[in-house]
Amino acid sequence: MRQAGLAADAGGTEAGMAAQQGSSGRRRGAFDAFDLALRRGTLAGTVDVAKMERAVDRLAPGGGASDVSWRIAGTNDAMGRPALEIRLDGSVPLECQRCLQPFPWSVAQCTTLLLARDERELAVLDAEDDEHEVLLANAPQDAMTLIEDEMLLVLPFAPRCERVACAGTPLVAHDPAAPRASAFAALAGLKNVAAKKAKY
Ligand SMILES: [Zn+2]
Repeated sequence: MRQAGLAADAGGTEAGMAAQQGSSGRRRGAFDAFDLALRRGTLAGTVDVAKMERAVDRLAPGGGASDVSWRIAGTNDAMGRPALEIRLDGSVPLECQRCLQPFPWSVAQCTTLLLARDERELAVLDAEDDEHEVLLANAPQDAMTLIEDEMLLVLPFAPRCERVACAGTPLVAHDPAAPRASAFAALAGLKNVAAKKAKY
């Protein structure tokens, strides 16, 4: 969503554009993001992440329940700009990238998305605001698409379970039970590595 900023003015075409956010093009599950922001409306529900076409690929197969409750609330940011606040709460099974076991990963995320009415406003908001993501909301938004997008952004690429041997250990680290890294580091300074060391 991040785009190169355009040197455009942030001029006031908002009022005219807002009037065009009509009811045309509505579909099931779709909503007008600006309208939701204006009336501080809320959409909420629970979704099984294992049934999400894109996010399911990131879960540990057969790892257990993957229900996440979600909430999309219309709001304003500190500067009064229309925004959506997206919350995710729940737990999904991920595969620990160190021990390769499934484990329940807690989801607790709250993200504020600024709303842009067109490509130009998207570029302007993106350029002047490093704190928030910006959503191009010039068409009805699909709640489930927003939730899945958010889910994909939140899921860690290299998840770790909380076992002592896994949590906090760099992914490339060697097994602490066999400290070969330090042994080899020590050997690196020696000209002639003894044969007995090579046959570990
Ligand atoms: Zn693990």
